[in-house]
Amino acid sequence: MLETVDVEIRKLVLLEEQRQLSQLSLVASENYSSPTIRGFEGSIFADKNAEGYPGRRCVSGCEYADQLENLAIERAKSAFGCEHANVQAMSATIANFAIMNELFQPRDGLMAMRLQDGGHLSHGASFHASGRSFRWCFYGVSEIDEQLDYDEVRSIALENRPAAIICGGSSYPRLIDYEKMYEIAQEIGALLWVDLAHTAGLVAGRAIPSPFPYADIVTTSTHKTLRGPRGGGVILCKQKLARKIDRAIFPGLQGAPKMDLIAARGALLAEVQTPRFREYAKDVLSNAKALERGLLDAGASLVSGGTSSHLILLNLLKCNTTGLEIEGYLSEGRVITNKNPVPFDTLPSSKAGGLRIGSAALTTRGFDEARFFELGVLIGKVVTSTHKRDRIVDLRSFVDRNTQGLPLFNQKWLAQ
Ligand SMILES: *Cc1c(COP(=O)(O)O)cnc(C)c1O
Repeated sequence: MLETVDVEIRKLVLLEEQRQLSQLSLVASENYSSPTIRGFEGSIFADKNAEGYPGRRCVSGCEYADQLENLAIERAKSAFGCEHANVQAMSATIANFAIMNELFQPRDGLMAMRLQDGGHLSHGASFHASGRSFRWCFYGVSEIDEQLDYDEVRSIALENRPAAIICGGSSYPRLIDYEKMYEIAQEIGALLWVDLAHTAGLVAGRAIPSPFPYADIVTTSTHKTLRGPRGGGVILCKQKLARKIDRAIFPGLQGAPKMDLIAARGALLAEVQTPRFREYAKDVLSNAKALERGLLDAGASLVSGGTSSHLILLNLLKCNTTGLEIEGYLSEGRVITNKNPVPFDTLPSSKAGGLRIGSAALTTRGFDEARFFELGVLIGKVVTSTHKRDRIVDLRSFVDRNTQGLPLFNQKWLAQ
């Protein structure tokens, strides 16, 4: 059917599939979801209007939608060990904005990590809707080790007395000490809100410490290390905030949820509780370390000296090049990455002094430490070499050799 009905779209789908198979994605915010999960996306639930919450819908015919959503909620609570879950948000960005909108007044203070130091645009960036209200204050990394300086976080919190402290970011390669953040929040009577979008899979897979029991609210996207479908946000919180959080999403900001995505999310939230997924999360970390070793061996410079997660941020200013330039060269070599500002960057974000990479997607494809190391060396050589074009040849031949017959979702991760 699809082949004959819309030839033009079908052709683009096949081309995209070919592109994904023949290139290597090191994009830290990309991953490949399992065939089980993909199968539920676009299922018959896609056409069901289930506006409202289980047992309190605005339309009838929701008996199975109710069971489905309740199942996804229970699985979310069990995967993360938290008291309440909302699985309806269309994305983490929307979840974040919905919460700000419902829980805080425009004159309230909010505190988050500075965008350039690793934060996210939905945490008060001037060009984002969240930045148009609230009294924002920002903390960042120290100039000495490019890691969070908790004494500085504390003094900014004491000075500004925000109603909530948001932590978690998009390009911070180190783990956040949630207990320290909690102590600071307690001291000023603020809520602790963790945006776990990048590392949710590592937490669910028990490879890194959980923000619970410290966080009052946790928001996350579903498609990064969590390895689920795009277009999803999950909010986890303490019971005392449950009603407000649910109201924030519906009717506060959204209309009807997308039930097929909730089906996929539900399956995902069971998958992340399997021993197989825990193995995956552990491998994501060791593979990032192998990539780090390769890059350092080749003389590349890494923000904060390296990584404690799935994510690495290269500092290109020290090699006299830019994120834009290296992203372009690597793409010619069929390695997909993204330019990213580094702390204390001197370039505009259209060029950017850094490049962000991560190990989550290629670990799903089955890359092991040896291949991550080799890839790290090849990328490091592109970055440091004065003859970058010659280095692309080596990279491209590595990609061609290593993508031959390599699936997007490796069989070994199929949960038993
Ligand atoms: C990626 C990211 C988001 C956005 O997630 P979407 O689901 O794509 O909206 C929000 N917060 C942080 C910290 C992120 O890294």
